[in-house]
Amino acid sequence: MISLNIIVPCFNEENSLNKFYLEVSESLKNNNNLSWNILFIDDGSSDNTLEKIKELSNNHVNIDYISFSRNFGKESAIYDGLENSSGDYVIIMDADLQDPPSLIPEMVNYVEDGYDIIATRRISRKGEPKLRSFFAGLFYKIINRLSNIEIVDGARDYRLMKKEVVDSILKLKEYNRFSKGIFQWVGFKTKWIEYENIKRIEGESSWSFWQLFKYSLEGIVSFTTAPLHIATIAGITFSIISFISIILIVIKTLVFGDAADGWPSTVSIILFVGGIQLFAIGILGQYLAKIYLETKKRPVYIIKEDNIK
Ligand code: UDP
Ligand code: MG
Repeated sequence: MISLNIIVPCFNEENSLNKFYLEVSESLKNNNNLSWNILFIDDGSSDNTLEKIKELSNNHVNIDYISFSRNFGKESAIYDGLENSSGDYVIIMDADLQDPPSLIPEMVNYVEDGYDIIATRRISRKGEPKLRSFFAGLFYKIINRLSNIEIVDGARDYRLMKKEVVDSILKLKEYNRFSKGIFQWVGFKTKWIEYENIKRIEGESSWSFWQLFKYSLEGIVSFTTAPLHIATIAGITFSIISFISIILIVIKTLVFGDAADGWPSTVSIILFVGGIQLFAIGILGQYLAKIYLETKKRPVYIIKEDNIK
């Protein structure tokens, strides 16, 4: 008998959970050689998510839950779920049914074909604001140009992983957890399944534009130091340019005499160089902030209650 843990981060999902459970059990009812359970991580929801989960776990034996003391974010919930999973296979999926449970049997089959990870990506962003799709596309272009690992455009967190993969992900102890990068970084043989974007059944996506922007900076800073090199190269380039212009100005003064003109251009140049300097310091600051957070060694999440035996 193969054991399967399904990890489900939940933040204000009270209206999705019943339907979610029904669909998952429906899709797995024919897989008799599989013993599966769901681990709900209540990520500090402010609605009745936890009560709903408890209700479900009273009615069904195969439901575990962990509830955080506050909202720690999906990345923390995923990490906690992985730490508490012991199955041969582990699946991570959203509670809002944007990750179709009907794919689970297919995923299990692919592992039996010899894959270690079955990952999913959406091939369209239908139903998403145009501007958001545009910036998402831009983010993937930038991060893939800058970093060594490939972050697949449209990759979801919905994936099945064998135990070995989960163990290696847990070896990455960093505090700033950018899962999309970490999943890719550990390697292993991956099969990608593609599907069309599906709208969430209930409620709103909890990601605002600003959160997504911070998330993408997080990804870039976590997985590449290229911006630091860009700052260095910009610095060198501007030093060379200024050196050449000093020589040119000296020659010009010697040949044509000194007319005190050129103030507007001087001011523009000062502003420009000042801007570049602030930009470079800002990049430094981003990395420094991450180092600061890492050195504190704070826990990734705090558990308020659970029913894990
Ligand atoms: N989620 C979470 N903590 C958060 C935000 C979201 O656990 O702080 C969960 C949420 O309940 C859902 C999944 O993460 O199961 C994906 O969230 P959402 O649907 O808002 O994101 P999207 O699908 O738009 O990427
Ligand atoms: Mg969603």
